[in-house]
Amino acid sequence: KPVVILCIGMAGSGKTTFLQRLNAHLHTERQVPYILNLDPAVTRVPFNANIDIRDTIDYKQVMNEYQLGPNGAILTSLNLFTTKFDQVLGFIEKRSSALDYVILDTPGQIEIFTWSASGSIITDTLAASYPTVLAYIIDTPRTTSPATFMSNMLYACSILYKTKLPFILVFNKTDVTPHDFAVEWMTDFEAYQRALSQDETYMSSLMNSMSLVLDEFYANLRYCGVSAVTGVGFDGFLERVAEARDEYYAEYKPELDRMV
Ligand code: GDP
Ligand code: MG
Repeated sequence: KPVVILCIGMAGSGKTTFLQRLNAHLHTERQVPYILNLDPAVTRVPFNANIDIRDTIDYKQVMNEYQLGPNGAILTSLNLFTTKFDQVLGFIEKRSSALDYVILDTPGQIEIFTWSASGSIITDTLAASYPTVLAYIIDTPRTTSPATFMSNMLYACSILYKTKLPFILVFNKTDVTPHDFAVEWMTDFEAYQRALSQDETYMSSLMNSMSLVLDEFYANLRYCGVSAVTGVGFDGFLERVAEARDEYYAEYKPELDRMV
């Protein structure tokens, strides 16, 4: 069975560019991906999507017809698309024996996918049929301050506990800023505390307590550094995907089977 990789992340973290690079990388490895674009508002998709939400839903028209702002229109478009997701699943099913990966790009604004009913339905439906993993794309150059780093990690943590799916933190844009600092902060609690104490913010005592919570999260986490622009780190990413797939079969799937 193909592995489903759901790419999520803050707007501008590089999800679309990451998918483009992953697609190119897989083609050179002769592994066939099936690509879904779930972002109705994207103007240019730099890869050939097998299924594109924009083929069936016109986001601008949704905005006009339902008198919505941009975020409301993206959410409504995703809802409309989700009503046909059984058909989408049928398309994947037909091709699945020839596929190694199914990759999904999600709307620019992360909460539209991670905290909506449609996002949950799509995620749960895929995870019920295929080994499914979440790739959480991080804008590394924009997460170098201890405070931003923590809020990004807490966000990732909340998604992990909501979906319970195997999770990969993908530190992107390492061509601009290497992710060494992040690895240090995740593996050496005192190094993070030191960085935090140098950060002049009134929140630092609150963050001190929260960083204790994250220690547990880091312990169960896999991560890698990539550059979607240069292509560095994608072999490492695929290794993490293979580990995450094993975790799906070891932990998620048995739980799922118990529930049905
Ligand atoms: P999305 O909103 O998460 O889909 O982000 P995009 O893929 O549209 O990328 C946002 C911006 O980050 C674009 O200007 C990209 O060119 C840039 N970008 C994405 N990945 C990288 C990377 O690995 N390195 C650098 N330097 N820029 C990147
Ligand atoms: Mg995008």
